[in-house]
Amino acid sequence: MKVRKNDNVIMRNGKDSGKTGKILFTFPSENRVVVEGLNLVKRHLRARRQGQKGQIVNKERSVNVSSVQLMCPKCSKPTRIGYLLEGDSKVRICKKCNGEI
Ligand SMILES: [Zn+2]
Repeated sequence: MKVRKNDNVIMRNGKDSGKTGKILFTFPSENRVVVEGLNLVKRHLRARRQGQKGQIVNKERSVNVSSVQLMCPKCSKPTRIGYLLEGDSKVRICKKCNGEI
């Protein structure tokens, strides 16, 4: 997967298309990510104890990594990620501005 935790991404389809958010979790084996504030589903929590109220909370559901695109922190445009070899380490670069990500 090319995106990582804490990357800013933009949703490319679904009801949150065009919205941006930060990646909270990645699930590389399933190619899925959880983006903060996006793809929310309502969870109805039942009261567990007496006197406690049931409540509805919004929770992020994971989305397929192909539905999101990285927002470049340098040129703040949605971009694709390229790699550059610098010595022994791989550096991620923005395909649009060639800036290091
Ligand atoms: Zn860029």
